[in-house]
Amino acid sequence: MHIYREKNYTVLFTDGSINLSWKANLGEAKKNWKTVKQLLNKEHLNLAYLTQIHSSKIVLATKAGYQGPGDGIITEEAEIALVVLVADCLPIALAEETGAAIGILHCGWKPLAKGIIENCIEKLEKMGVEPGKITAYLGPCAGVCCYEVTREFYNIFPENFIEQREGKCFFDMRKFAKHTLTKLGVRKIYDVNICTICSGEYFSYRKGEIFSRQSALIIKNKI
Ligand SMILES: [Zn+2]
Repeated sequence: MHIYREKNYTVLFTDGSINLSWKANLGEAKKNWKTVKQLLNKEHLNLAYLTQIHSSKIVLATKAGYQGPGDGIITEEAEIALVVLVADCLPIALAEETGAAIGILHCGWKPLAKGIIENCIEKLEKMGVEPGKITAYLGPCAGVCCYEVTREFYNIFPENFIEQREGKCFFDMRKFAKHTLTKLGVRKIYDVNICTICSGEYFSYRKGEIFSRQSALIIKNKI
């Protein structure tokens, strides 16, 4: 578990010790979400969540609950946990320093290729947020150590984000995400730098955990 308790907001990346997916066992998921809320000292916390579709779609949440299909949520509201579920994809939490706006992204290679980060920063800018005042938090994901991809990726991403080892190609999602954030003017970036495939402490889709997910979430504190 990684938790960042800031004055204006809180970021949490859970690990493979609790399954937070609603798909496999609803009862277990409800129990596990209760544990997360207790950990945050927010027993009555409401969640905002999506049907994740590997797109670049960002939804503006004005209240908690189901936000429809998409892969990113942004909000100006306090006390709503913006949630994505992941198992190898890269979760990114974003926060303006005063907590004016926050966001959460589910970034597999498809959303990254489709410009989900660009789309999100643009939307935040339209809400009056300066990119230089945004802090980004990168959670656990498939690392370049393990994330083998096809040669096709050379047609999708610049070659400096693809590593070649023993005739195989590996995509560096973190490096690409950090490069994109920096290019857009985000200066503060925290990276837990953990690989979900080889760390042994996280759910990994590639390793066969089809219905298990860890969560990334961000909550704006009530001030
Ligand atoms: Zn690895």
